[in-house]
Amino acid sequence: MPMKKIHYLTNIDKVDILSDNEKEVARRVADKFAFRTTDYYLSLINNENPDDPLRKIALPNKEELEVWGRLDPSSESKYTVLPGLEHKYRDTALFLVTDVCFGFCRFCFRKRLFRNDSDEKIKDYSAAIDYIRNHKEIINVLLTGGDPLILSTSRLEKIISELRKIPHVKNIRIGTKALAYNPYRILDDDKLVSMLSYYSEPDKRIYIINDINHPHEITDKLKEAADKLLKAGIILANQSPILRGVNDKPETLSQLFSELSAIGIPQYYLFVNRPVVGNSPFAVPVEEGWFIFKKALQNVSGLERRARYVMSHETGKIEVLAVTEKHIIFTYHRAANPENTGKVMIFKRNPNAGWFDDYTEMIEEFAVNQFTKTQEPEKEILSIN
Ligand code: SF4
Repeated sequence: MPMKKIHYLTNIDKVDILSDNEKEVARRVADKFAFRTTDYYLSLINNENPDDPLRKIALPNKEELEVWGRLDPSSESKYTVLPGLEHKYRDTALFLVTDVCFGFCRFCFRKRLFRNDSDEKIKDYSAAIDYIRNHKEIINVLLTGGDPLILSTSRLEKIISELRKIPHVKNIRIGTKALAYNPYRILDDDKLVSMLSYYSEPDKRIYIINDINHPHEITDKLKEAADKLLKAGIILANQSPILRGVNDKPETLSQLFSELSAIGIPQYYLFVNRPVVGNSPFAVPVEEGWFIFKKALQNVSGLERRARYVMSHETGKIEVLAVTEKHIIFTYHRAANPENTGKVMIFKRNPNAGWFDDYTEMIEEFAVNQFTKTQEPEKEILSIN
């Protein structure tokens, strides 16, 4: 079968679906936040719809220039032990193997990596592998970036084969949006799939964690690519932020979760999108997102209801457990400080909060209850919405 040639676009002037005025604005935005996409992805956009969700993901928008957010709100740099290697949770390392993606999502929380002045980029693969080898507590390695599948198969194999030589590394996860931007990366490269299959051993699996944000990304080609990976013994899952104008309707999320589950890519996290510079057009307040998420879960099966609504905060992965009439209840799903794991935190509600810090900043204004799971919650907490 002939290979499908995918074209990458980095020049706004080559984006035919934009008018001259739109190109002018998009050029200014792209000067600040890098632009890159594929012709395949652009072909999925409905040109008749100015609010097309995939258009919002792929094409620069003037609202990105609003003064808003921080470059690294989760303080990933604080946990960077070597350029390209983060060690935040005791048993897990994040290996940023590249700073390039098939397309740069406008909502990306790592857009700081796409700047020339970033010093978090991988410089020395072998130093990162040595660090993982010397830290026996690391069981999980997440290959991320950038998009690891943009690397050549031989380069990716070199990394994975080195990791497989380390006895304490069990799960290797690959975070990618290849299936949405370029499913032909899977469909046309049998060597890639057989390599992943080879290293996805019965007691040490390879996971591909996708970032599929909207049902329109789930094309026949994406389904074929998923099927090929599943048949090769790769385990698939999906995580996505909740994004204004993309998937902020309960029915859109229900459809996304159901369709993904049907093709073997269950949703496991729905993230509050981090308050990153340039991302204000995508912001959905924490509590609004919770209610959208809960409503979406009403129309899906138990399989899809395993998804959790979380925030990747500096201190850990914080899950929203419930929102009552007056309070919001969080727990540490993962904690950078192991002593916080499982801790439950209750705050007065703040409908405008976009991030966990917006609650903690209210501490002096309002009473904050912190208790462990073994203590009784307040009576009001029992009427959970
Ligand atoms: S594919 Fe992932 S890392 Fe790349 S731009 Fe999109 S969200 Fe960011």
